[in-house]
Amino acid sequence: MKILGQKPALTYLMRGLAHGTLSPSLIFVGPAGVGKKTVAVELAKSFSCLNPVRLKKNDVDLPRCHRCSSCERIGRNNHTDVLLIDRAAQAAVLREKEETQTALKIETIRQVDKFLRIKPLESPRRVAIIDEADLLTIEAANAMLKVLEEPPANAQIILLVERLRNIPPTVQSRCAVLHFKPVASGDLALWLHEEQGVSMDHALEVAQRSGGSFSKALALKDDDAPEVDLSSFDMDEFFSWLGEASWRKEGRKRAERVLTALIEEAERQLSSGDLEQAGRIKLLLSARRCLDHHVNPRLVLEDLFVKMRVPVGS
Ligand SMILES: [Zn+2]
Repeated sequence: MKILGQKPALTYLMRGLAHGTLSPSLIFVGPAGVGKKTVAVELAKSFSCLNPVRLKKNDVDLPRCHRCSSCERIGRNNHTDVLLIDRAAQAAVLREKEETQTALKIETIRQVDKFLRIKPLESPRRVAIIDEADLLTIEAANAMLKVLEEPPANAQIILLVERLRNIPPTVQSRCAVLHFKPVASGDLALWLHEEQGVSMDHALEVAQRSGGSFSKALALKDDDAPEVDLSSFDMDEFFSWLGEASWRKEGRKRAERVLTALIEEAERQLSSGDLEQAGRIKLLLSARRCLDHHVNPRLVLEDLFVKMRVPVGS
């Protein structure tokens, strides 16, 4: 997959690969959906690519071909020397449902340890990628620390986290930490247009609302819910509609649009000097997080409007 943005992180990885100085333990930190997992997978390809591309002098990229059998199998998450751990992988091993996996458990890190202690079969390194490492339990993080203290030869460990504070300092100190930034909205718009077939006008609009996140942009690209005009907004009508439709995708989308309109309005008022809006924005953002975590939209908005005690649309 093509990598967009993230030049500082890529430059570090590219030089580390070229000079053989890459730390065997890496933490990629940054918001959800900005390409951490993509870069980790592409790095894994770069270790074992059978046909590595020679990068040109000014290229900021990783040397893999995308086409050889090794690159292809890593792309399909089906390579003996690459292990991708996430909640879905843990659920499969534990024979549980993915929705019930709220943490990454010590058993899972033991599985990583076991995987890394086997000599690579086809590649120079065995690569373990741990997605959402924010979710490691304390026991799991301690088990991870043990692996990092005495890493097996030829092991490459990559922890992906949204917030560094979710990883114990002892673990951080054993890793090279690479920061991933929100993707520039121009780059996102181009990606939506070129790779996802979105018209340029719509791509620009979606990119603006995506906060630099590929996953958010993907979720929003098919969002055809109408813009919410707060001046003609009828909350009673909205709630009765939401009550009927709250189990449907459209209900959630419309709820998101209402929240976005409220947040934009509050930000406008804040920037024109109304400091009381800061508290309101905090409540609104917290409601949006609940929606992102699939809480019932009607409950989220009712709770929000009770807390704000501000009539909407009046
Ligand atoms: Zn290749």
